[in-house]
Amino acid sequence: DPTRGLPDIDASKLEVTETITPKEILPNKDLIFGRTFTEWTASDGWHTPRITPYQNLSLDPATCVFHYAFEAFEGMKAYKCSKDNSLRLFRPDKNMARLNKSVARIALPTFDGEAFTKLIGEFCKLDQRFIPSDKGYSLYLRPTMIGTQRTLGVGPSGSALLYVIASPVGPYYPTGFKAISLEATDYAVRAWPGGVGDKKLGANYAPCIVPQLKAAAKGLHQNLWLFGEEEFITEVGTMNLFIALKDKETGQKELITAPLDGTILEGVTRDSVLALARERMEKDGWKISERYLRMSELAAAQEEGRLIEVFGAGTAAIVAPIRKILWKEKMIDCGLQETEEAGAVAMQMKNWMEAIQYGEDDSTSWSYT
Ligand code: PMP
Repeated sequence: DPTRGLPDIDASKLEVTETITPKEILPNKDLIFGRTFTEWTASDGWHTPRITPYQNLSLDPATCVFHYAFEAFEGMKAYKCSKDNSLRLFRPDKNMARLNKSVARIALPTFDGEAFTKLIGEFCKLDQRFIPSDKGYSLYLRPTMIGTQRTLGVGPSGSALLYVIASPVGPYYPTGFKAISLEATDYAVRAWPGGVGDKKLGANYAPCIVPQLKAAAKGLHQNLWLFGEEEFITEVGTMNLFIALKDKETGQKELITAPLDGTILEGVTRDSVLALARERMEKDGWKISERYLRMSELAAAQEEGRLIEVFGAGTAAIVAPIRKILWKEKMIDCGLQETEEAGAVAMQMKNWMEAIQYGEDDSTSWSYT
């Protein structure tokens, strides 16, 4: 552990430099403004945290992040409560734990997630005038850690930068849900047992672009990653996948997502959907499963009229209903009517999640105010 015995992040020492040229509130689109950051060195540990106006980084071309991909990141959102305008982060402990797990895997220093969450909170407060409390609006936060040592030697980075940038975002589907279509990728693999597919490393993402482009060339929105000869369904570009179907023999309704076996990202939304489904759907006769499902089983369910619906789950859209999946030469219809953009389960999940995120449902401990 490179951080042993060294100072951790001290949120009480935060230094704030506000911009002298504040941005207009409109137009919000694609605005990116402040950043909060702290640096780490192998000699001194984590330095005094700071919030400053957005600015370029200046790094030597030999910095290790540019050569050996010493980079890990997170994606999370701050919401404004529709009742009292309080600011809320959604399950930030999950993002901090995941970032710590990611950076540890590439020998970057870990940090106190609670202290860093506090800093993110201060940062959100400073920029809260940019966040409307209307449903669908939020402040997208991108915590990032990079190795900053100047060296071409392949070894641990002796220094690191941990920073957060932010951008206000509007509804993912401004005119309501829009179902998307996928291509099941059978010629490339995203992750494998013993690999790093369950870490949010930048290095996991660049190799996903070509399969995405190939899917786009066929008029499809995203690609679906399969694994192994069995063609197990894993996850979509930046979403976990849920499949609702009925059992062939018993007619039992089942909501299925891939298990956490190290080959999929442990999505915060995935975990939340599972928890809500177990709490609120099981009593209505649903079986909730984390298990392997082959692409051929999905196809069979569709052919036999047992496929109820399919949707992706991730921070950006919360849920993304799936209309069809192209698998080899076969187009699988995922259960939506032509005029329908979302199934009942996806719709229900989005409503449940938003009620929690915007503070209307206070029955969970998921909001950090
Ligand atoms: N899978 C991958 C590969 C992702 O990049 C993401 C986005 N972080 C997800 C799943 C969904 O995770 P979350 O619900 O935490 O946003």
